[in-house]
Amino acid sequence: MGRDSGKAVSRWLQVWLEAGRDGQVFTYANPLDLALAPGDLVQVRLRGRRHSGLVVEVLQDLPAELAGRALQPVESLLQPAAVSAAWQQLIDQVAGDCHASRFQTLKSALPSGWLGQRLQPPVRAPRPAWQIEGPRVPLEGLRLTPAQASLLHDLEAAGGAKPLAELCAPGAHSRSVLTSLERRGLVGRTTLGAATMPTQSPRALNSDQQRAVAAITAAAPGQALLLWGVTGAGKTEVYLQAAAGCLAQGRSVLLLTPEIGLIPQLLDRARSRFGAAVLEFHSAMADGDKVASWRAALDPEAPRVVVGTRSAVFLPLPRLGLLVLDEEHDASYKQDSPMPCYHAREVARLRARQSGAVLVLGTATPSLETWLSCSQGHTTLLRLPQRIGERPLPPVRLVDMRQELAEGHRRLLSRPLLERLQQVCQRGEQAVVLVPRRGYRAFLSCRSCGEAVLCPNCDVALTVHRGREGREWLRCHWCDHRQNCGDHCGHCGSTAFKPFGAGTQRVIEQLGEELSDVRLLRFDRDSTRGRDGHRQLLERFAAGEADVLVGTQMLAKGMDLPRVTLAAVLAADGLLHRPDLRASEQSLQLLLQLAGRAGRGELPGEVLVQTYSPDHSVIRHLVQGSYGDFLDQELDLRRRGGLVPLARACLLRLAGPSASATATAAAALASRLQPGVERAGWVLIGPAPAPVARVAGRSRWQVLLHGPAAAAIPLPPEPDLRSALPVGVTLAVDPDPLEL
Ligand code: ADP
Ligand code: ZN
Ligand code: ZN
Repeated sequence: MGRDSGKAVSRWLQVWLEAGRDGQVFTYANPLDLALAPGDLVQVRLRGRRHSGLVVEVLQDLPAELAGRALQPVESLLQPAAVSAAWQQLIDQVAGDCHASRFQTLKSALPSGWLGQRLQPPVRAPRPAWQIEGPRVPLEGLRLTPAQASLLHDLEAAGGAKPLAELCAPGAHSRSVLTSLERRGLVGRTTLGAATMPTQSPRALNSDQQRAVAAITAAAPGQALLLWGVTGAGKTEVYLQAAAGCLAQGRSVLLLTPEIGLIPQLLDRARSRFGAAVLEFHSAMADGDKVASWRAALDPEAPRVVVGTRSAVFLPLPRLGLLVLDEEHDASYKQDSPMPCYHAREVARLRARQSGAVLVLGTATPSLETWLSCSQGHTTLLRLPQRIGERPLPPVRLVDMRQELAEGHRRLLSRPLLERLQQVCQRGEQAVVLVPRRGYRAFLSCRSCGEAVLCPNCDVALTVHRGREGREWLRCHWCDHRQNCGDHCGHCGSTAFKPFGAGTQRVIEQLGEELSDVRLLRFDRDSTRGRDGHRQLLERFAAGEADVLVGTQMLAKGMDLPRVTLAAVLAADGLLHRPDLRASEQSLQLLLQLAGRAGRGELPGEVLVQTYSPDHSVIRHLVQGSYGDFLDQELDLRRRGGLVPLARACLLRLAGPSASATATAAAALASRLQPGVERAGWVLIGPAPAPVARVAGRSRWQVLLHGPAAAAIPLPPEPDLRSALPVGVTLAVDPDPLEL
């Protein structure tokens, strides 16, 4: 329908549809004079089909290329102001900062499936959700199927009640089993809102905690604070009490954690304090549940405490009073792909300023970025220097593996470590052991020609995994390709292979051989599959089902297990010597976090680190517990080297079907950008193949831009940047990348 169609056209609208290509918006006419505005959810037709779409812009004049074209009108208004003007501003700002399109950013920020739905007006009260209670009679002597028994045991373990959505989540119990138990009267249901009344009252704070809560409560709108508290200092209690103050003023709270595995613990603690005011929002939820949380968050009358992971930073809470990023140093707060490659910490800073909320960054090991921000006066430092109950931090003991070797002990597990593990178990205490890699063996290599067995799709060696019956196969940790170990070398035909490096499976096997009567449990991505895998495994360990938990990095993150008195690291060296600018910072953070798992309860703890480099500065700071000094020194080093965060970097990542096409595209991009980069006083480095030059069959190249801190990244606007890329080659812009 064009200008001369005779109908009164007040405006032209740009509408974003999920059905469109990346970055594409469609122009529609508004003949109904609905006075539509950006943020309205509307229904339109595209190629004969109905779609819901978001009005992203109102045009007074039609772009020249569309002048005179017949434009269809918007069919109807589904929901006015489905996203607020302030929220759209946030999206535009994030898109701009990350050199992503508004479309990509919207797609990242909105729960998937949201646009496909017909929206109702914001809900006033949370939709009644069911909670299942039971078992209502003793289970002894009952005839139950294994599935029924397992469901009842789960309920029992959860203290007699569990939300239906959780009990019957995909991968958990089936609805039909629940129905059969309901029919027999063994379980019953109540509404979740009614049942989740707060059950826990706030704890009496120690003086450091009191000071922290007072400072957060008194902080100016938009202010950022770093809550630097040692592991076990009671940071979560500070968050919860600050959140209570916020709720009391009718304002909402965003409580973010970097790890999906930490959600259950935080959710339990928040629910026991705030009951039905708590919403969850994270990637392990079903689309429908996410949309429900999103909608509940829109209600300005009902202040919420949202517990979520990275993407929850975009939830459009209308009256936001407090944002908390727990474990603010964690790399999971950064999105690598797809674009926008945003950092939740930076989005949180924007949101805090925009909505006059207070931002609290909590951690035992602050990131260098946040430390710098403190030293520049942009972030206020709050300290919790002591553990709750003045419990001591566990001392760190080193095992010099060079000496072990010199004394003829070539085993993976040193004598002191085995001794300590045995003692811990004999005393009925528990230990956690960090192994940097999952699987059985790091890789296989050929005894004749020395070549490792590589993934056919990626430039990495395949990892050996082992099944229950001892059968071994190979797996790629990058693309998940699986294959049999094979019987001859693809290079020279030799049939002799030699495995190298130990993963969690091999460590468990060796511990089993060396220690008698020690019960072992494995904690890695392979053993914690499914939505509740993480939680279930930790519950089993907390219940005393095993003495030693052997796991990967996941082990170090945030868990609170009072009977753990020993935290051990098998091969610290693998962490220290990575070729990355942040290797020192990240490995010290990991080691301190792991150390923080020991001695959290009444019993004192100890940390044991096996290393070939006991003199490494990271190990020294670990032993001395001098993280603040480490940060100062590291900042000084980076300042003198002109490195991030005292400078800025931006990584352009290209991927394409062949090495030559990708290399050519990278070279063309680099020479196109070079003049602008130079003009801005920046430096362009590369192009060069990515550290792993091929993943899942796609070749990867990169170009690095380096420039002054706080300066804008000298890149042309989004469509121009991509315009000259050959078909099949993709480009991702990663501002302030975490890996360099
Ligand atoms: P962090 O997050 O700093 O590592 P947590 O918040 O997990 O520490 O607190 C450690 C333990 O101390 C938890 O079991 C918590 O319930 C308990 N705790 C926190 N604050 C207090 C307090 N004021 N009094 C008693 N116990 C507390
Ligand atoms: Zn060979
Ligand atoms: Zn692979």
